[in-house]
Amino acid sequence: MKKVVLITGANRGLGLETARQMSKLDYQVIVTSRDPAKGQAAADSLGASFHPLDVTSPDSRQAVFDYVLAGFGRLDALVNNAGIMLDEGRGLLDLPEETLRLTLETNAFAPLALARLFMPMMAAQNYGRVVNVSSRMGQIAHLNDYAPTYRLSKLLLNGMTRILADAVRGKNVLVNAVCPGWVRTDMGGSGASRSLEQGASGIVWAVTLPEGGPNGGFFHDGRRVAW
Ligand code: NAP
Repeated sequence: MKKVVLITGANRGLGLETARQMSKLDYQVIVTSRDPAKGQAAADSLGASFHPLDVTSPDSRQAVFDYVLAGFGRLDALVNNAGIMLDEGRGLLDLPEETLRLTLETNAFAPLALARLFMPMMAAQNYGRVVNVSSRMGQIAHLNDYAPTYRLSKLLLNGMTRILADAVRGKNVLVNAVCPGWVRTDMGGSGASRSLEQGASGIVWAVTLPEGGPNGGFFHDGRRVAW
């Protein structure tokens, strides 16, 4: 039976490229997107399944969980990819509180909520891979006032990666954070140094880790990086 992988924000950018690479492996890919038309088109182009998911909506998260349970009976891998960077050019002291709230909700709280939904199922089936798509902008040594809420959200995502990994230790559920590098997407911009293929390959590496692989780490291109 094919392993089932769900990817958030898979209608474009790194999420779509991860879905494309996973589709070439022996995985049943579930593309999710908050825009149903774009998500369905992306899924159709890959021969993947589709379900709408706005990661910030509790109802939407529950609906995708119900869909996975009813349709597949299991989830083998969760890629928390959806993310936003709204605060470029604004410092922590002068950006709107709504920016802070929405960034933390989308980039940190939503991945945690999805992990809490799906990880008990993974622990029970003694198999699971959770990949939190993070950024070295959230490394402690790199914290500064450029894109401050984005940095804080990734710092929080990295912290929860470690704690979630500890929560499932010994259950063959591996939870890791991955930085794709600076990638040419809408977020990364056209001047970024890396292609989509290069960026997504480190995510696919973490999804496909064998039993006994690293748990609770932070990686770039399969190599451990500092928190
Ligand atoms: P992107 O091209 O801007 O794509 C972001 C994706 O997230 C889109 O599919 C977007 O959907 C989705 N999204 C945002 N809010 C959402 C929500 N509430 N519910 C569901 N989906 C939502 O960005 P990207 O470069 O591919 O980034 C993907 C991940 O990589 C992010 O976590 C980002 O922080 C991380 N990352 C990127 C880089 C880089 O250089 N590109 C570097 C380090 C880390 P819509 O189309 O509906 O907006």
